[in-house]
Amino acid sequence: MKNLIIEMEEYAKEKNIPIMEKDGIAFLMKFIKANNVKSVLEIGSAIGYSAILMASSSPDVKVTTIERDETNYMECLKNVKKCSFEQKVNVVFQDALELNLAEGTQFDLIFIDAAKGQYKNFFEKYKYFLAPGGAIITDNLKFHGYVGKSDTIESKNLRQLVTKIENYVEFLKSNEEFETHFYDIGDGLSVSVRKNEK
Ligand code: SAH
Ligand code: MG
Repeated sequence: MKNLIIEMEEYAKEKNIPIMEKDGIAFLMKFIKANNVKSVLEIGSAIGYSAILMASSSPDVKVTTIERDETNYMECLKNVKKCSFEQKVNVVFQDALELNLAEGTQFDLIFIDAAKGQYKNFFEKYKYFLAPGGAIITDNLKFHGYVGKSDTIESKNLRQLVTKIENYVEFLKSNEEFETHFYDIGDGLSVSVRKNEK
């Protein structure tokens, strides 16, 4: 297991795949244990690094993870097999915005870590699948320190992306339904819970 994790970190570095930072994944694992999370939905598997580590954080947690890129999906499947987590990690090869989950499906934790420009759409689509008392965690809210400084970015594509993350942060801050805490951990994380459940 430990070797596989190191292998995945090296692969991600080599191929430029943005897996979670170490303190970010440590936060998620602690969160799962502390809140007795049994089911996780992850949007954006990449090669399965965060899915496998989340699944390993407690004996009875199961992770469903969605990936739309075929190469990453195949690599993710391979890694899940390597650690014999086929019963713990269910990898779904589809665009998360096109997937239709069965009505009534519920997750204790929804982890958003896919296309940054789509964060609000993921949130709005998947909040209906959050179990009572559950949380939605979002990654990369600092986006390498660019968030909050979009007006100084010269590249148009990067500026548009960072602006979308800034808008998502505003969306969370002003959300009537969810209360969100922001954490300066890893590349910036948020934890959102339903207000009427506090
Ligand atoms: N959670 C992973 C890293 C994910 S990187 C980890 O920390 O180990 C983001 C991934 O999201 C990429 O592999 C990308 O292909 C995928 N992705 C982006 N948009 C998506 C979408 N709409 N549906 C499914 N996967 C998506
Ligand atoms: Mg991320």
